[in-house]
Amino acid sequence: MLSGPLPESVNFVEYLDKGASLQGFIPLSRFVRFRNLLASEEGEIDLRLHFEEVGSGLARVVGAASASVELFCQNCLHVMTLQVAIDVNTRLVKSDSELHSLAENIDGMVVDTPRLSLTELLEDDLILVLPMVPRHDVPCIETLKIVGSETRRPFADLSKLLLQREKD
Ligand SMILES: [Zn+2]
Repeated sequence: MLSGPLPESVNFVEYLDKGASLQGFIPLSRFVRFRNLLASEEGEIDLRLHFEEVGSGLARVVGAASASVELFCQNCLHVMTLQVAIDVNTRLVKSDSELHSLAENIDGMVVDTPRLSLTELLEDDLILVLPMVPRHDVPCIETLKIVGSETRRPFADLSKLLLQREKD
């Protein structure tokens, strides 16, 4: 059924009835809270979802979402690219009371049947998967070379350290 750019919300009952999967992408700019944590809102979330019948609740939605996002490295303050991915396994329910009656290990979400907001489904998990302190995997050598080639004097710190040691 749907592929390519996805709308803000989909009729999940249709997918459930037809046993169809949903696949496509959502612009990052639509995730307002998530994009505020990023260095750029360029790009998109790739998404694949499937809906299943369940005993309790309306349906279970399972799948995966991933994106390539840009963050500021907190070490060198330059932009770094990070691949993020989340698994989706969420029980769709009708009301808060149904939500509270779910077992503790089951993620749930109240939906206004038959519409399911895709941003609401994904946004919290996307935020949680971001590192608290984003940093380049390897030391930021390339960046430091560019930024510090004029002013950086690697031995200045060393001599200060040696002086300090002598005093001690
Ligand atoms: Zn860095």
